[in-house]
Amino acid sequence: MKINIAIDGHSSCGKSTLAKQIAKELNYVYIDTGAMYRAMALYALQSGFIKQGKLDTNSLISSLDNVYISFKYNPETQSSETFLNTANVEKEIRSMQVSNFVSAVSELKEVRAKLVRLQKRLAEFGGVVMDGRDIGTVVMPNAHVKFFMTADDLVRAQRRFDELRSNGTEISLQEVVQNITSRDTTDSNRTNDPLRKSDDAIIIDNTHLTQEEQFDFAMSHIRRAFESVEKKTEAESGVVE
Ligand code: C5P
Repeated sequence: MKINIAIDGHSSCGKSTLAKQIAKELNYVYIDTGAMYRAMALYALQSGFIKQGKLDTNSLISSLDNVYISFKYNPETQSSETFLNTANVEKEIRSMQVSNFVSAVSELKEVRAKLVRLQKRLAEFGGVVMDGRDIGTVVMPNAHVKFFMTADDLVRAQRRFDELRSNGTEISLQEVVQNITSRDTTDSNRTNDPLRKSDDAIIIDNTHLTQEEQFDFAMSHIRRAFESVEKKTEAESGVVE
């Protein structure tokens, strides 16, 4: 029996770290939906649809049929990488330039419709750990386990800053704080599929948690979900102990 697990939450609070750990533990597929929106923002940048800091929404919307986003597993890095049409864009989509425009791109309903359709298809057969902003509410409303992650703003910014600096990115802590808080505001207040905790999601505030503690907490809920699915299946098939 394969279940689906949804992880939503604020920017840079470690959703992908937890999602990857869970996927590895269960031998499930990890799907990074933020990477899809980032690839779309990169497409807009590369196509010249962002000029003087402003997104030309009409040009992007009328080009959507030319955008093909996919993931391919790289055995060397043991992780899946994002492709925009035929190009591997895994590195480029993590740049600050993309981070600065992604929320403007992801609030467009036409962009969301295209990517949500693809995400729903990927989750169709179960066995998926998917992270994003609207996974428990829109993409997988029937997911067996839903987590909503958050952490103190400054703690999130410091972690992201350390990560960017270790990749050689020249950036100040202030710029990182500015980027994550402005993305949170846009993502939470947009009209289409805003970032919102699903009523049945379990909150994980990892401000004071280690990755190990967070993983153990998440796995205890996932195990419980497996048990209740098994019980339900047994009851439906008439098995009595
Ligand atoms: O998860 P990550 O920080 O890489 O996501 C980048 C951006 O993509 C978010 O700030 C948000 O604007 C958008 N996003 C979204 N819906 C998702 C995942 C990401 O709108 N399901």
